Amino acid sequence: MQLKCLRCGKLYPPIVTLEKCACGGPLSLEGARSSGTGDGVWRYRRHLPSMEVELSLGEAATPLIPCIGLQKQIRLASLYVKDESKNPTGSYIDRGSAVLASAIASSGLLSVRLHGDGNYIASMGAYLARAGVKALGSYELPVDLSKTIQASLYGVKHSSSESSPVVSYRNPFMLEGLKTIAIEMVEQLNTVPSAVIVPTATGVLLFSLYKGFRELLDYGSIDNLPVLYAAVSKGHPLVSSKQAHTALFLPVADKTYIEEARKALRGTGGDAVEVSDAEMIRCVRVLARVEGILAEPSAAASVAACFRISKRLASSSPVVALVTGSGLKALDLLAYSSDATGAGAAFHRIKVEILKAIAERAPIHAYGIYKLLNERGLATSPQLVYAYLEDLSKRGLVYSMNVASQRRKKVFYLTPVGRSLLSLVTY
Ligand SMILES: [Zn+2]
Repeated sequence: MQLKCLRCGKLYPPIVTLEKCACGGPLSLEGARSSGTGDGVWRYRRHLPSMEVELSLGEAATPLIPCIGLQKQIRLASLYVKDESKNPTGSYIDRGSAVLASAIASSGLLSVRLHGDGNYIASMGAYLARAGVKALGSYELPVDLSKTIQASLYGVKHSSSESSPVVSYRNPFMLEGLKTIAIEMVEQLNTVPSAVIVPTATGVLLFSLYKGFRELLDYGSIDNLPVLYAAVSKGHPLVSSKQAHTALFLPVADKTYIEEARKALRGTGGDAVEVSDAEMIRCVRVLARVEGILAEPSAAASVAACFRISKRLASSSPVVALVTGSGLKALDLLAYSSDATGAGAAFHRIKVEILKAIAERAPIHAYGIYKLLNERGLATSPQLVYAYLEDLSKRGLVYSMNVASQRRKKVFYLTPVGRSLLSLVTY
């Protein structure tokens, strides 16, 4: 077993904390595989590296759901949703975490610093808790506060300055676990899907699926590859090299695997399909109301892409749309753009009004926001406005700057993500 650079071909020993080649290229785990069968993702041992410790929380074996209602709406002959939200922490990442956390536990590391988004840190937090490995977390833009709460319940401590080795989402052991989605899909369908639509941000998931299908082809288990489509947010590097990328959902935090993702699309005759934040939100509702599947907005990108390219997909059968994560993790965020008028929506109303006030008047200090809200008939207190501003800062929606010349020193601005969120608000 060894790590191979996908760019220059250089070989390295399979050290779990090694995530990039000296040339900057991504690494892929190659060579010896395990045998037999085990629990969860370890059912696919013959595709996975051999480990001393095999952690599982019952990940994998997620349902492949025929979606008759949705396929009628999109005008497809046969559409399935591969529902990865049914994994233990509500995200497809659990498959990768089972393998990566096992590699960390097997290597004897006592603590690691996790770097990535909320889904990644929550998922790894769960598996590392089971292994008794201390986990610190440094978040890329924690918009979904519920995921940071989930991670902290698994014992992840927030930290960016510790000396523990960094383990990120783009770790080669993570990719090994994610690969099993492709293998499981073929097993459940008993054939190769003609097209698979994959929500894509960093390209890690798309490349992992490609690797999985390629392995099946090499083993002689299948005769052809499905066409892979990447469902990406507006301005994603797979579709644009110039545009600023400020989408709220499926943001690109790291570009290490973008070239590999591009190769996966080219290698299967597929393409990247741009969908907007608003289309993803709309498809959360469509999936929930038509099929009873509650996806988080980024996970519904695959369905949004199916609507976009329905004519191109019309002759493909069966089509599989990957739903990557559960909407239960994003209920607070969904409330901002919900057409419901319940207590949840009312609770978020003040935060939305704060965002609007900053959009209109930035730079503006906290007391100024309070005064403006009061003028608009929103009964609130300065303390509540301060607390909400802190929450909005943590989510990466607003940022503050100190102005030395003013009595009230701190002024607030919207971040590009804050502006994107505001554009989705429906009330
Ligand atoms: Zn290299």
